[in-house]
Amino acid sequence: MKLLLATNNAHKVREIRAILGDSFSEVSTLKEAGVSFEAVEDGATFEENALKKARQTLDFVGDRFDAALADDSGLCVDALGGAPGVFSARYAGVEHNDAANNALLMRKLDGVPAERRTARFVCCIALVRRGMPDLCVRGTVEGTILFEAHGQNGFGYDPYFWYAPLKKSFAELSADEKNAVSHRHNALALLKEALDGENRRLF
Ligand code: IMP
Repeated sequence: MKLLLATNNAHKVREIRAILGDSFSEVSTLKEAGVSFEAVEDGATFEENALKKARQTLDFVGDRFDAALADDSGLCVDALGGAPGVFSARYAGVEHNDAANNALLMRKLDGVPAERRTARFVCCIALVRRGMPDLCVRGTVEGTILFEAHGQNGFGYDPYFWYAPLKKSFAELSADEKNAVSHRHNALALLKEALDGENRRLF
């Protein structure tokens, strides 16, 4: 089964290939396939966005691929009713402005005590295949939101996301440490499990 990844993000691609590579005969990125297409992410949930992105990408490339995989992720803060959620990338209004997004997060959480700053990163991954049921999984990782930025690694909200099991913020973890516990890793592991389960039922 030839799989098209609806991303060109090198980090995501490496992780996906490492975990799911064996489940497909061929795995290509949009760039490798010479495809220039960006789906609209206007869904109300991570699941809706991931499924929509995967479906639209597969429809766009036609018969060249048998399946498409897409993800949507973000940060959900309990004291903010789950915000920024699906708006994580553009929380402060401008797409992918990490500094502005984090500044807004700090303003919104002003006065919220440590014990009420619980949050999680969420990653939903959708796999859409011709003639087979869609699969959609949700991986999460639990943490709390710090009062100040800590660490230089990672991206997005990482400097403010405290991961208690390792006593570090996500921006203080190495790439390998983060990849071993991240919401994206957990979602990919669930998808791998679902695919292996299907194979066990087929044979
Ligand atoms: P995407 O769906 O993976 O592009 O993620 C959307 C947005 O969620 C990003 O632009 C970040 O603001 C936030 N986000 C998702 N995953 C992470 C993460 O691992 N660390 C920090 N921020 C993240």
